[in-house]
Amino acid sequence: MGYEGFESSEIFLDEQLCKCRTLQPIFLMVVLDSFPIRCVYCFLPVPFKKLNLDKKTIESIDKLSSTYKTVLDLSSDSKKHESLLVEQFKNINSKINLIGREAQKKINEFRRCYFHYTGDMSLHITDCPVCKKSLKLFKEGTFKLLKESPFGKNLLKKFKDIEIIFGPRICKDCSIITFP
Ligand SMILES: [Zn+2]
Ligand SMILES: [Zn+2]
Repeated sequence: MGYEGFESSEIFLDEQLCKCRTLQPIFLMVVLDSFPIRCVYCFLPVPFKKLNLDKKTIESIDKLSSTYKTVLDLSSDSKKHESLLVEQFKNINSKINLIGREAQKKINEFRRCYFHYTGDMSLHITDCPVCKKSLKLFKEGTFKLLKESPFGKNLLKKFKDIEIIFGPRICKDCSIITFP
């Protein structure tokens, strides 16, 4: 099942989708089980329909999905392969990340889109994996909406300084986004 399948499924109720009135930037995720595209401001899924993605772009996202599944299947075979998955995420030039950034560039033609870089998922990422410059905290109105979102409200109950802790970091030049 490709992403079109996910999109047509009813896993997400309407109120769980991005409702931001202005066209906010979005990001493409590799690790996912439902909607691969989310809104940077509210973190909720943005349906393909809302973005008017063309067939070619949806195919490129499908390619990312199938590559991810292939690597996931391989890595579940043994310990040795587990490190393969970590390496795929960590290395910005790995197959997964290259295919992901290809898809992100295509989506970017429809709306400003970042690629979600996860690294090895244990370290706090401070530098852009592409240009090596320091990532910048993404401030532009983000946190107001983050706090208004169900996701943000839950986090606020648990943590103070939510902006600093959970604010996304970006490299505008390379269209990379990370979350602490
Ligand atoms: Zn939104
Ligand atoms: Zn960069």
